[in-house]
Amino acid sequence: MEESQLRSTLKGEVIVSSDRGYDEARKVWNGMIDRHPSAVLRCTNTNDIITALRFARERGVSVAVRGGGHNVAGFGTCDDGIVIDLSRMKRIEVDPKAKLVRAQPGLTWGDFDRATQEHGLATTGGLVSTTGIAGFTLGGGIGWLVRQHGLTIDNLVSVEMVTADGSVVRASDTENPELLWGVKGGGGNFGIITSFEYRLHAVGPLVYGGAFFFPVDRAEEVLRTYSSIAHGFPDELTTLVAFLTAPPAPFIPQPIQGTKMIAIALCYNGPAETGAEVVSPLRMLKPSVDLVGPIPYLELQKMFDAGSPFGIRAYWKTSYLKELSDGAIRTLVSHASKMVSPLSQLHIHHLGGAVSRTSGGGCFAHRDTPFVLNFVGEWVSPAEDASNITWVRDAWEGMKPYSTGTPYVNFLGSEGGDQVRAAYGENYARLAELKRKYDPENFFKINQNIKPS
Ligand SMILES: Cc1cc2nc3c(=O)[nH]c(=O)nc-3n(C[C@H](O)[C@H](O)[C@H](O)COP(=O)(O)OP(=O)(O)OC[C@H]3O[C@@H](n4cnc5c(N)ncnc54)[C@H](O)[C@@H]3O)c2cc1C
Repeated sequence: MEESQLRSTLKGEVIVSSDRGYDEARKVWNGMIDRHPSAVLRCTNTNDIITALRFARERGVSVAVRGGGHNVAGFGTCDDGIVIDLSRMKRIEVDPKAKLVRAQPGLTWGDFDRATQEHGLATTGGLVSTTGIAGFTLGGGIGWLVRQHGLTIDNLVSVEMVTADGSVVRASDTENPELLWGVKGGGGNFGIITSFEYRLHAVGPLVYGGAFFFPVDRAEEVLRTYSSIAHGFPDELTTLVAFLTAPPAPFIPQPIQGTKMIAIALCYNGPAETGAEVVSPLRMLKPSVDLVGPIPYLELQKMFDAGSPFGIRAYWKTSYLKELSDGAIRTLVSHASKMVSPLSQLHIHHLGGAVSRTSGGGCFAHRDTPFVLNFVGEWVSPAEDASNITWVRDAWEGMKPYSTGTPYVNFLGSEGGDQVRAAYGENYARLAELKRKYDPENFFKINQNIKPS
């Protein structure tokens, strides 16, 4: 197929290096990623995707698939190959009676939440509203509803996808169930998802949430208390501990802005009075800033947006943590105090609850581990690359004696096969077998790649 034929066949847009807008079109969220694909194809429907795959295959070039473009490793773009950009595919159909939704892969969590909240419904979705639902779902999905309703994949009912040979396949509990098992955590390894169907739950419109901020010199005391009570939190309460620098935002008192803090951000999906009761042991610690109260779920979903703008330079490392022991707390605090950039953060996500009580019918392998660490290096200037990357690596290494050393795939950078294997643990062999069935040539390899067995 010639480029002219591609342009006339594709309903969406074809953008090559000589086109205006190419430089915008090749960018992804992580500003460290500077790749030059031979074309970005903004597909609008399944036929466009099949045409794009054929075009790439005929040229023998690789394909990078992009949903929201937030992947920290930059898998939503590539050098020389074809980017299949799905950001135009944003249809969403909510069935409020059945509490189900069908959603196309170009939606962000902001788009998705707006549509489902019109009916007082939601499912576990991202903590930053500009993140794409597609890549997020395919890696598991940790959000404010995770302890109550499980990972996003635990709410994934079915998918439609285009496989490497251009076939359209459906996967659900009754059709190709093994494929659904693999898609639930196995990333974009098996094909391009054109439609996700999710289970929805009653949420909001108001939840009880926000964040408590404490000075970092109280971090050990705060974390020890948190560690002693977190296992008793009800499922309706999901918390995230973050070491961060207080932003210059109007809701932070001026003297505190720019100082290092530890924050406990949270969401309680239930009545405000019960929420206040449930979080009272945290409030009794007397935070210097208390921003916790009734808040629209839609607002809570955007609480962290400003901290992670498009184009920021990012390097992350991740691991799971079985317990917040005294040694783990001391080590975390010591590394957090050395954080180089005021935009960096160190996150402790609390899982457990519904995550630990179900297999979710997918390949997510770490359900019995209650905490996920994410060392979030983020900064602006290329001159600061080395110091920030070193901080992230040192902090991750420092936590090795206490952590599992295995990554959560959604926070994983380009670290190679061993970390991908570790992410899936004993499920890797089964995934490799599934990959052999659906993508034996490893055509979809710009991802956390599972090699065909
Ligand atoms: C600011 C920020 C906040 C985040 N917050 C959270 C969080 O709260 N919880 C959490 O669990 N994770 C979070 N993440 C991680 C996030 O889940 C992953 O980065 C995820 O890959 C993003 O999905 P995307 O569609 O935006 O990314 P993309 O870069 O577009 O895609 C990511 C991967 O998925 C593949 N892919 C995308 N669409 C499809 C498709 N339709 N079919 C097949 N494969 C596809 C891509 O090829 C790529 O390998 C966050 C990331 C960022 C940058």
